Amino acid sequence: MGETQRYSIAYKGLKNGHHEFRFAVDRSLFEAFENTEIKDGACEVRVDLDRSEAQLTLDVAISGYVVVACDRCLEDCRVPVDFEGQLLVRFSEEVREYDGEVLWLLPGEERVDLTQYIYESIVLSLPYQRVHPEGECNPEMLERFRIVSDSEFAAIEERAATRGHADGEWAKLAALRERMESEAAEPSEEGTSGHPGAAE
Ligand SMILES: [Zn+2]
Repeated sequence: MGETQRYSIAYKGLKNGHHEFRFAVDRSLFEAFENTEIKDGACEVRVDLDRSEAQLTLDVAISGYVVVACDRCLEDCRVPVDFEGQLLVRFSEEVREYDGEVLWLLPGEERVDLTQYIYESIVLSLPYQRVHPEGECNPEMLERFRIVSDSEFAAIEERAATRGHADGEWAKLAALRERMESEAAEPSEEGTSGHPGAAE
């Protein structure tokens, strides 16, 4: 059974009025979309379909979670999904594009395929920033990024120095670094002197 069959509703035989449908979303939905940022997930989709002569009104609720890469440490991160939306299905002899509100079907069709709608709704419901809760990022990964940014910092510093900008903020920064480095170098004599009893 293809993904498009799995998330479709055969409305042709339905009477006018309300009908409820449920779908379970898993990894295979996201695998059907190339270039998706979503690696995995589990969501429940509830659809309240109201059929009338002219159209179908679908109230859709999606809840569960998806797995994406954390923006901070790049490790897998679970993000909760909580979406509610309404989709209208109308019929037209001419082929029309889905405009974000109305899905147009040809009068002869028998099923409405919700695959694209469910996928897009999940993507749209994700927060702008996708990160682990504070303190739950992978510390090894964070350390690796910190080292990278330190070496990037050194490269910027070097570029500024070769441009001859020996004044302003960069000069202050360079002086500070020099002082810190010379201070750090001093305690290296430790071990050859400083024994309290050695004077006797
Ligand atoms: Zn993280």
